Amino acid sequence: MTATAPREEQLWSRCAGCASLLYRKRLRRNLDVCPECGAHTRLGAPERLRQLVDPGSLRLLPEGLPEADPIAFVDVVPYPHRLTAARAGTGLAEAVVCGTASIGGHPAVLAVMDFRFLGGSLGCAVGELITRAAERALDDRTALILVTASGGARMQEGALSLMQMATISQAIAALREAGLLTVSVLTDPTYGGVAASFATNTDLVLAESGARMGFAGPRVIRQVTGRALPEGFQTADFLLRHGQVDMVVQRRSLRGRLVALLAVTRAGRPARPPVPRQEAAPRRERLDAGGPGPTLPVSGDGRATLTGPATAGDEGPAVLDAWDTVRLARHPGRPTTLDYLDSVFDGFVELHGDRLGGDCPAVVGGVARLDGRHVMVIGHQKGHTTAELVARNFGMASPAGHRKALRLMRLAARLGLPVVTLVDTPGADPGVAAEEQGQAAAIAENILTLTVLPTPVLAVITGEGGSGGALALAVADRVLMLQHAVYSVISPEGCAAILWPDRSAAPQAARALRLTAPDLRRLGVVDEIVPEPAPAAHDDPAEAARQLRAALLANLLPLLDVPPAMLVRLRRQRFRRFGGVRAGARAGAR
Ligand SMILES: [Zn+2]
Repeated sequence: MTATAPREEQLWSRCAGCASLLYRKRLRRNLDVCPECGAHTRLGAPERLRQLVDPGSLRLLPEGLPEADPIAFVDVVPYPHRLTAARAGTGLAEAVVCGTASIGGHPAVLAVMDFRFLGGSLGCAVGELITRAAERALDDRTALILVTASGGARMQEGALSLMQMATISQAIAALREAGLLTVSVLTDPTYGGVAASFATNTDLVLAESGARMGFAGPRVIRQVTGRALPEGFQTADFLLRHGQVDMVVQRRSLRGRLVALLAVTRAGRPARPPVPRQEAAPRRERLDAGGPGPTLPVSGDGRATLTGPATAGDEGPAVLDAWDTVRLARHPGRPTTLDYLDSVFDGFVELHGDRLGGDCPAVVGGVARLDGRHVMVIGHQKGHTTAELVARNFGMASPAGHRKALRLMRLAARLGLPVVTLVDTPGADPGVAAEEQGQAAAIAENILTLTVLPTPVLAVITGEGGSGGALALAVADRVLMLQHAVYSVISPEGCAAILWPDRSAAPQAARALRLTAPDLRRLGVVDEIVPEPAPAAHDDPAEAARQLRAALLANLLPLLDVPPAMLVRLRRQRFRRFGGVRAGARAGAR
């Protein structure tokens, strides 16, 4: 081994597709696509931007994010150490790079993810940066282009990562309303929370050749189904065949395709001068972020007060260990949505079907009365016996379940009915058919729709709030949580398997994830904890129902008087806080 060996190695690289030894400069000239077999090598965000935008036009958006470790997460390595290593390894501040640029002369805002940075995971800082990019596109009245590369939400930031899916989705909803084009470019790989939000709820979805996208990863699906996956599963061509993307594009054609699409949006439209703005001026929301959140009218007994973060000493009853809480939340005797529909509500009329070919048994919904008022109730349905659980797919909704829920939400808005959701799912169905039918996009559309639904929405985490599948029913004006429910970005077992890596570390993972009601109340993810009878809801379902009913009424009644436009505005502020409040809080502490 000579001293020049490492240099020699840097000049050459071996193709992962065909194992050809390639001269690096030649590979780069070919946009990092193997000239022998056409395999598309993963690109870092800076190189991707260089390939897409007009030379000299890129202006990076200010990052200015302080250190982030919002839940003080430790697995075998403290999270700040992982962040430091990612920064050193990539030269990037975070897993996304955002900027304004022109593409073929058309102005656009771009947010480009970088898989090298902690697997492109979506945490508060990434959520904040992409949201700001979308807000910049709205201000400038330009298109937004999102280039995704992600394993999913960032486990180390717990449920706050999950909230980013809603925050970014509502920014995309604002672009939709303004008639501004949003385009996502799926690159390899795009999974989990990113797939189930901004990667698929944009106007157009392009998949780069060789990209894979899905809600559940292939490893998880194989584990759950115990079967081999079909050839080419979740690849760009698979996605095209199943109607989930507009086109599959070779890297060398990507820029040209974007130019053509951007040209369409400007055709026949008078150019509006961008609104003058000060670079890096703090946004209004960010100034508000440090304060108590938006307020809602208070009910007679004062239960509904602020949607802002909880204050000390306001955490409800004493708590169990997080892992014991997980076990209670999963207890087979725990009241289900249908139990509550019987005990809390009156006159439930179940409505079925997504009108697209399916009716998912894991989601039930319909009209009912709550203390004489008509409401739309939608919830996950588990069961008490093995037979019931199997019939209901363990409360894991298929895309048809999410689309049924979406249909009922929209119907409620048209009829002027408030929506009450009861969330109790280990997660969305991680099956082959679910992926074929567009699980990620189905969840993404629900999240986006809920951010702007012009009717009161009240969500209750009654049992397990599992990841994106839970969030698909839990973007609400008020989010309540039963005392022994859990709400998490990933199951403790899943988190333990990835980070420890050892599934038996699930109890430690449960603690690290901050998934209990008091933890989430403190983080502002949940507004109120609904007490359960001791020791837990399954021991006295009638009393649990009485408590839930009281909490629903106390939280719903004040919402009924709020005009729809204001509801939507307050809901947006509620979810906009999750990136901003943490950054703001720490910025203030500096
Ligand atoms: Zn090759």
